[in-house]
Amino acid sequence: MIELTYTRAADAADAIRRAGAENAKYLGGGTNLVDLMRETVEVPAALVDVTGLPGEIEETSDGGLMIGAAARNTAVAAHPKVRSRYPMLTRAIVAGASAQIRNMATVGGNLLQRTRCTYFYDTDGSRCNKRTPGAGCDAIEGFNRYHAILGASPACVATHPSDMCVALAALDAVVHLRSAYGERTVALCDLHRLPGDRPDVETVLEPGELITGVQLPLSPIARHSTYRKVRDRSSYAFALVSVAAALELDGDTIADARVALGGVAAKPWRAWRAEETLRGQPPTEETFLQAADAELAEARPLAGNTFKVDLARRTLAAVLQELTEGVR
Ligand SMILES: Cc1cc2nc3c(=O)[nH]c(=O)nc-3n(C[C@H](O)[C@H](O)[C@H](O)COP(=O)(O)OP(=O)(O)OC[C@H]3O[C@@H](n4cnc5c(N)ncnc54)[C@H](O)[C@@H]3O)c2cc1C
Repeated sequence: MIELTYTRAADAADAIRRAGAENAKYLGGGTNLVDLMRETVEVPAALVDVTGLPGEIEETSDGGLMIGAAARNTAVAAHPKVRSRYPMLTRAIVAGASAQIRNMATVGGNLLQRTRCTYFYDTDGSRCNKRTPGAGCDAIEGFNRYHAILGASPACVATHPSDMCVALAALDAVVHLRSAYGERTVALCDLHRLPGDRPDVETVLEPGELITGVQLPLSPIARHSTYRKVRDRSSYAFALVSVAAALELDGDTIADARVALGGVAAKPWRAWRAEETLRGQPPTEETFLQAADAELAEARPLAGNTFKVDLARRTLAAVLQELTEGVR
């Protein structure tokens, strides 16, 4: 039996103080952390429950939204202002997990959920540099259907599993953080790290840093947005490839675009090159495929997931086509 303490934080300051204990972890809905503890991938000595911290969804002075980190995924997806102003976010959240899990899962926990690479979970016999730095990576030569095609390294080819984070990356969301040293903000696109030679360091968070909220800026383009997830089954399956996109047309020209990809990298992948390729061009299939090609030019698939490059290309083009038809 592994002993641990459980306490419930009264507020952010209390949570940070309690998390100062050695080997402490914040506990959101527990839908990922508890599984990782069962598999002994994570072995915290203290759990600090942060579900009693603010989880409201409130309008900001610039017309955006501020979502408390303890907001449950279901509450975010169902919120009328999220549904009308940021439909890609609602669609991304409901594409993930199951209703029961979304009822438990918090925004803070969703951001920091860990990869679903099977070798990462297999503490009995698999080598994993993310779990044990320097051990090696069995996924590179193993079952890598779900693994990264962009931004991977010889040390790690795992992907980030969150659907919600893909939409947040496309929406230029900002993550609010608090620690014993003060408060700061980080763009969602900069929160997660690519693996390099330290795949065990997954985010730019400092030890003990608490996520207090996620801010969605005012984004008129996001009203016309969507999320599409391609997976092996229609529920309880993580993305092979997913696309979050928003499009703004000015007559027969693409005035602006936001695009992010999921299931392709260790972080939600903002498709900056695709966006750049789209702006100022006619909204045709040719343009959409050129944008996808620009983004995927540096894709390095593995033996088990070469199909993902074409899947990402075609999914991106199809989503942009769907958005174009919605405008006309
Ligand atoms: C069967 C199954 C299927 C799933 N399918 C999908 C899917 O298709 N798509 C998808 O996106 N997700 C899926 N998930 C994952 C699910 O979305 C995550 O488990 C969930 O979002 C995690 O949120 P949580 O609040 O339960 O986090 P927890 O498990 O409580 O915590 C996760 C991590 O976040 C940290 N943490 C929590 N809150 C904070 C905070 N405020 N500040 C700092 N650190 C914090 C914890 O310490 C821990 O490291 C699935 C999960 C299961 C079990």
